[in-house]
Amino acid sequence: MSAAKQGGRGAAPSPVVNIALSKGRIIEEGLPLLARAGITPSEDPARSRKLILDTNLPDVKLTIIRAADVPTYVRFGAADLGVAGKDVLMEYEGDGLYELMDLGIARCRLMVAEPAGLAARDDPKSWTRVRVATKYVNISRRHFAAKGIQTDIIKLYGSMELAPLVGLSERIVDLVSTGNTLKANGLVEVEHVADISAWLVANKAAMKMKRDAVKAVVDRIAAALG
Ligand code: AMP
Repeated sequence: MSAAKQGGRGAAPSPVVNIALSKGRIIEEGLPLLARAGITPSEDPARSRKLILDTNLPDVKLTIIRAADVPTYVRFGAADLGVAGKDVLMEYEGDGLYELMDLGIARCRLMVAEPAGLAARDDPKSWTRVRVATKYVNISRRHFAAKGIQTDIIKLYGSMELAPLVGLSERIVDLVSTGNTLKANGLVEVEHVADISAWLVANKAAMKMKRDAVKAVVDRIAAALG
């Protein structure tokens, strides 16, 4: 029984704040940012098989999940805060999230790409109907619809760059960072869809129910961003 329940003596323990993060670029670039915020995991997430990691702060834990699941965990309160790419947030259809701040990490761009040979004689301004392979079905549909272009979208879960090579679709919508993956597969960028970076998101209810504890973590991260 807590001290508060026993006799009303002492402060109630601070609620735990869970931050959802994904492996890969977000954790690689996010951990140095969290370290500047004074939050360090008790073990290396890249080596640990644990999915919930303690940190140096007793009331802050890190939950390691797939990037595309971060909005869902935060939306349903399974995590109070999350770090998610803008691409994932734009593709996510649910509500219940606050996009608190751009963390400026895991920067890249979402692009339409196609084989270099096609690009030499292609003009995106003349498109009236395009077939694209992508995991970003919602973003792609919105992007082309805003330009009055009809779309046939082939949903993939990864390796979009393969689609033009095997005749699945000539064009893809995918993240590009250095451009090396496109180049290695004979593809070139032909249209910009969005600039992408990772954002700190929060569960709307946690922002009210655990206000002080969540705000303390958010303030640390904001201070680390400078
Ligand atoms: P690059 O060869 O550096 O242009 O990287 C392209 C590959 O990395 C593609 O398969 C992308 O899906 C992936 N990628 C690039 N940037 C990111 C990012 N910020 N987050 C997740 N995946 C990325």
